[in-house]
Amino acid sequence: MDDALELRYYGHGNRNARKIALTFDDGPNPPRTEEVLRILADAGAHATFFVLGKWADRWPRTLERIRAGGHVVGNHGYAHGFHLSDYERAEAAISHVTGVPTTFLRAAFYQYGACVASPLAHSRVLIDQDIASDDWQLSDPDDICRAVLQNPHLTAGSIIGFHDGAELDDDAQRVSRPAAMIEALPRIVAGLQSRGFELVGLDNFELDTPFVWRGGRDPSDPQALGTKADAEPSPSASHDQDVYQVHKRRGILGA
Ligand SMILES: [Zn+2]
Repeated sequence: MDDALELRYYGHGNRNARKIALTFDDGPNPPRTEEVLRILADAGAHATFFVLGKWADRWPRTLERIRAGGHVVGNHGYAHGFHLSDYERAEAAISHVTGVPTTFLRAAFYQYGACVASPLAHSRVLIDQDIASDDWQLSDPDDICRAVLQNPHLTAGSIIGFHDGAELDDDAQRVSRPAAMIEALPRIVAGLQSRGFELVGLDNFELDTPFVWRGGRDPSDPQALGTKADAEPSPSASHDQDVYQVHKRRGILGA
């Protein structure tokens, strides 16, 4: 199989370190992103923001505030469309504001079949999640708290997915959608910290055991577009370990 049709991605970190990675997608999105930044700062927590290129172009100041807060900025595509592979365009927009290349990338809609067409995606560390807050479809903050804090899979090394923005061009929806999550977030952060978890950005997080996504021969063929369900644990743990060590040597992964 051609290596170009294969992607490795991480769904969690070291299960033996009491660290959790909070991730926020689809921003920057004022004033919601600033509200998240305030909650994290008050709690002494750090996180990773997978931002969209189109919003980086529109709200560079908010993106600068994410960076100024000591958080990690990752690439989540430019327009966040189905089957779009516009990670190069997103990278140009993001790095134009931040001045540095991204290290981490999250596939829009976790659609690895589109991602695989991007040369840039092959040079970034791909990040999935093992805990979905479902915040994009829940409107009651209590439900979002439960989806995270009572999730049976929540444990050391978890990567939790939230949305501080939306890919939607409708301004009213984009601003209103994250409201319930923001109401829930102080309780979620306090709940995780009370269990002894340190909340860190991916630059301070040891990723563990990548999964392998394999597409078909022709990524433009809908039959060949992989989904998350196609993902399978890598058959070769030692090879994965080699890849991990290479990333580590290159300083791509946190300590
Ligand atoms: Zn997204």
